[in-house]
Amino acid sequence: MKRLAQKRLRLLYWIVTAYLLLALGWWSVLLFVKNRDAFLAKAELLKIGMVAEGLVHTDEEFLQTPQYQTLEKQYRHQEVMIFGEGLFFMITLLIGIWMINRGYNDVLRTARQQRNFLLSITHELKSPLASIRLVLETLQRRPLPHERQQPLLAQALTETDRLNDLVNNLLLSARLDTSWQPVLVPCDVAGIAARLTDELQQRHPDRVITLDTPEALPVIRTDCDALEIALRNLIENALKYAPAPSPVEVVIATEEGKHLLIEVRDHGPGVPDKEKDRIFEKFYRVGNEDTRTAKGTGLGLYIVHQIVTAHGGTIEVRDNQPRGARFIIKLPIRPGPISQTK
Ligand code: ADP
Repeated sequence: MKRLAQKRLRLLYWIVTAYLLLALGWWSVLLFVKNRDAFLAKAELLKIGMVAEGLVHTDEEFLQTPQYQTLEKQYRHQEVMIFGEGLFFMITLLIGIWMINRGYNDVLRTARQQRNFLLSITHELKSPLASIRLVLETLQRRPLPHERQQPLLAQALTETDRLNDLVNNLLLSARLDTSWQPVLVPCDVAGIAARLTDELQQRHPDRVITLDTPEALPVIRTDCDALEIALRNLIENALKYAPAPSPVEVVIATEEGKHLLIEVRDHGPGVPDKEKDRIFEKFYRVGNEDTRTAKGTGLGLYIVHQIVTAHGGTIEVRDNQPRGARFIIKLPIRPGPISQTK
């Protein structure tokens, strides 16, 4: 029903737009014709008067008279004015149409994202809660031996972590939306990456996470905690979207001593070209929430994007070969003393 109303509204929009453009064209042509008719009539009147007064005898003589020349000049001037105004009006109209269309598409997209977000957040909140409840009910119903309790408790703890991550992400993205500024301190990026890959490797024993860093990486000034969150999000996405047991590679390099490149590569489905820019938008997830299987809220890459741009850097996604995605963070190198490295 809502879709039908949207389609009708769109149709109405195009009908009104087409009418406006046609009306503009029609009135412009009409104005041109009327202006020419008025000029011809005035010239004719002038000629009759001059012939009656005996000032001119032939058409050639009349065309040379200053009165006729002034009249023609006025006519040409009016013609240019009509053309200029018509053109200006047409351009303004087209800009207006384009802006309305863009605004309408933005509203539709926001509505779709909000719906997707609500669906995914409901799922992301409900499923760990249900799982924790099940564990608690099982433990409450009958006393279990210690060794059977442990996996259940571990599962409940994992689900609690998931809830915690979700709430943290929501809070962080709200903070990044406002006037968040990175706290720049000298940072051992290679050390952070090594700690992070070790931790995630332990949590995902079925995967291989490799880290490639140059021998001597300069110490750069960044917000270390924020950078760790960004890198964690990228590696966790690679682990989530690329199927086991495909490896995940983290590569850190410098570019002409001016930029630090942090790259996360995977061998999963990759990101379709038309989605490459949009996946960094808040709550944006590829596909539709009803058909999507991977868990998520569409906040991870938005957080990465906000953190990286607040550092004056860029983030982009490219295709990996033969398949998969490559997420590349590029940060300006701001050197700092090694003694205070975090
Ligand atoms: P979430 O993972 O919670 O959906 P993200 O903001 O982290 O949110 O990612 C946005 C979308 O980008 C995801 O829904 C997914 O479709 C796509 N995406 C992110 N990382 C990858 C990846 N490594 N490979 C393929 N698609 C990815």
